[in-house]
Amino acid sequence: MNTAHEKRPVRWTFVVALAGVVAYGITSDALASPETATSPVIAINKAAETTPIKTNPLRGSISELDGSGGNITVLTGGDGAFMVDAGISLSKDRLQTALRQLGVDKVKYLVNTHWHWDHTDGNPWVHDLGATVVATPNTAKYVSQTTRVEDWNYTFPPLAMGGRPTELIRTERTYHLDGETILVKPIAPAHTDGDIVVYFKNADVLVLGDTFWNGIYPFIDNAHGGSIDGAIAAANEALGMCTDQTIVVPGHGPIGNRAQLMAFRDMLVGVRKNVAALKSQGKSLDEVLAAKPSAEYDPKWGQFVINPAFFDRLVYQGLNHHGSGRPSL
Ligand SMILES: [Zn+2]
Repeated sequence: MNTAHEKRPVRWTFVVALAGVVAYGITSDALASPETATSPVIAINKAAETTPIKTNPLRGSISELDGSGGNITVLTGGDGAFMVDAGISLSKDRLQTALRQLGVDKVKYLVNTHWHWDHTDGNPWVHDLGATVVATPNTAKYVSQTTRVEDWNYTFPPLAMGGRPTELIRTERTYHLDGETILVKPIAPAHTDGDIVVYFKNADVLVLGDTFWNGIYPFIDNAHGGSIDGAIAAANEALGMCTDQTIVVPGHGPIGNRAQLMAFRDMLVGVRKNVAALKSQGKSLDEVLAAKPSAEYDPKWGQFVINPAFFDRLVYQGLNHHGSGRPSL
């Protein structure tokens, strides 16, 4: 399945895709070519060096910062800030300026929604602001060792000691800070096998990390425990945690709501169904891609980040990963 022949086009497709996450608003065609795209990580880090940080006030004392890889959520208050994800370290100066503008000079807790570097690379400097880093054991494991990601053509060194999670949680835990009640909840493998979602109860803000990409096809890290079925289960679980009033923060894409999360879940289910039906007929990956199983969703979901062929491939391989080609939904 993972022949070198297949990997080359997928690898640079991902460069185009993820570079688009950072350089929001720039068309993907302008961003990369197979010749220049040695690794999406290098391209994204380069973008993070110059991308402005935008602060989006959400509700109460909670804001979202974007422009440094994955979305970052911050609760401010006298006890020190509570942050969800830390972005890319090259954005440190601009992120610190944005935090200062929110009145933040110390951080009490930093939760990592999962291990990917566009959510954890900033851990060390946030820890230097006082943060205890909270994550699942699998997230802690991946950021504490050298981790190779073939699809990204990149080998990640371990994070500096201070940036490694020290508060490891396997089941949900509640934090109380500045009058807010915060539920930090590890979930079953979905985007990776170390995902966490965070719910700010009083403000009614639900932060889903990369288990939710708002309006765009998601990446699913099959190599680190993720799968399409896990992604669908996580979306269903998240739907059970919110109402129409809830502000739903995705890992990538604009701030969302329950209706948008439901549309995301429905898209996952629909593409999974079509891919699995073809796979159950014994079709190869190339044959499945040629049949364009996500065609009805592509105009809306496939225009920006992960392109249709790459998403279809992730779904197919996720099914294969679990040895099941039968549609279950
Ligand atoms: Zn991710």
